[in-house]
Amino acid sequence: MKYISTRGQSPALSFSEILLGGLAPDGGLYLPETYPQFSDADLSVMRGMNYADLAFAILSRLIDDISSTDLKAIIDKTYRADVYSFTRSGQNAADITPTVKLEHDLYLLSLSNGPTLAFKDMAMQLLGNLFEYVLVKTGSTTNILGATSGDTGSAAEYAMRGKKGVRVFMLSPHKKMSRFQTAQMFSLQDENIFNIAVNGVFDDCQDMVKAVSNDAAFKAQYKIGAVNSINWGRIVAQVVYYFKGYFAVTENNAQKVSFAVPSGNFGNVCAGHIARMVGLPIDKLVVATNENDVLDEFFKTGVYRPRGSANTYHTSSPSMDISKASNFERFVFDLVGRDSAKVRELWARVDKGGAFDIKHLMPKLADYGFVSGSSNHTNRMQTIRESKAKYDVVIDTHTADGLKVAMEYKQENTPMVVLETALPAKFEDALVEALGEIPPRPECLKGIELLPQKFKVMDVDVAAIKDFIVKNT
Ligand SMILES: *Cc1c(COP(=O)(O)O)cnc(C)c1O
Repeated sequence: MKYISTRGQSPALSFSEILLGGLAPDGGLYLPETYPQFSDADLSVMRGMNYADLAFAILSRLIDDISSTDLKAIIDKTYRADVYSFTRSGQNAADITPTVKLEHDLYLLSLSNGPTLAFKDMAMQLLGNLFEYVLVKTGSTTNILGATSGDTGSAAEYAMRGKKGVRVFMLSPHKKMSRFQTAQMFSLQDENIFNIAVNGVFDDCQDMVKAVSNDAAFKAQYKIGAVNSINWGRIVAQVVYYFKGYFAVTENNAQKVSFAVPSGNFGNVCAGHIARMVGLPIDKLVVATNENDVLDEFFKTGVYRPRGSANTYHTSSPSMDISKASNFERFVFDLVGRDSAKVRELWARVDKGGAFDIKHLMPKLADYGFVSGSSNHTNRMQTIRESKAKYDVVIDTHTADGLKVAMEYKQENTPMVVLETALPAKFEDALVEALGEIPPRPECLKGIELLPQKFKVMDVDVAAIKDFIVKNT
């Protein structure tokens, strides 16, 4: 299986060759050259599998340059009950992504039982083990440089801590993350983890990362790597839980299931699109946004109009506060019939800060099952209260965006699965506002804010971050 760029001007590469990087050299995103197909007979075999076996069945069809034995070992090491242990009461951690039944044909798929209480652990933990495997095998190292407003940074650090050949330099806006998120990251004392608190906002952090990555000589010499949401390894790992969720709520493969996905950079729901393309019987993919509704606007009008960072709202579902959806190009590549010249034409406009209109393709959107909706702070608070009152299930603000929009598309006789992208403990202040009480927190994370913290404060200064990387490698 080779991977090609959505912009059609980079060589096709194998999985291990694209694993450590981000964008393709031509500025595009990687996708498999063709989608493998899982038949009805395949699905019947997969239905009975545990999470790790299911992950192997799917990933082995998309990764052909890691031996089966090694890939199986990496997957078994990743998807263990003791790694995804922050279950709700009554859930079995061995299910890795257990479901919660809310009402008839309405479910939550728990994706946030991993070490940092957000769904990003599902993919990032696998990435950590894959990185270490590839680096040890090639006798190489990488310095991962990233910017985070909270969830990505902690998931990356917990996945990469102590991994051979990997160092992580994670920039975050100083004093702008929640106390819990800050404590999660800064309390890590591992020698290969470097937290950098930047005197600025998230966009300043991201700009610093871009500036360093644009210095090709520095990037090559210091082997700068990325684990941002466009990394193909993350997307492919996320395909697995759509299968797991599908099997959990159906009895046979003739049934279809809809998934509602709290969306930001379109990574999570892009994995749903891929699950559908490889043969999972998905009815609708419900894209749920918050006030930053660039995706909702697209799926309703056919116009993709990224907002500048000045027009991005800071909301109570902050991990969905995006100005443009970095993975969206992957879906559009399929939507335009994999015409890379067309994608180049559309993104020539986007990359200059413009928009594009592909209204004429609206009928095709339905073929791919996509629908969308948005929610705001009032909706979130109300949905959190209703979920508690009706189902006795406390959800976080992002999952609330998903549930709110899911209800707009729920149909008779088609199970609707809402992806739970974070546990409520991660967003305490918003939960206290909604429910008047502090959400339950796993025992071992109580008092995490009191642990000693390791971080370096830095100004918005590209030379300073380069210097810091040089001194610490
Ligand atoms: C990252 C994140 C999202 C958005 O996921 P995308 O893959 O960027 O669409 C939603 N909810 C939470 C809690 C997240 O951390």
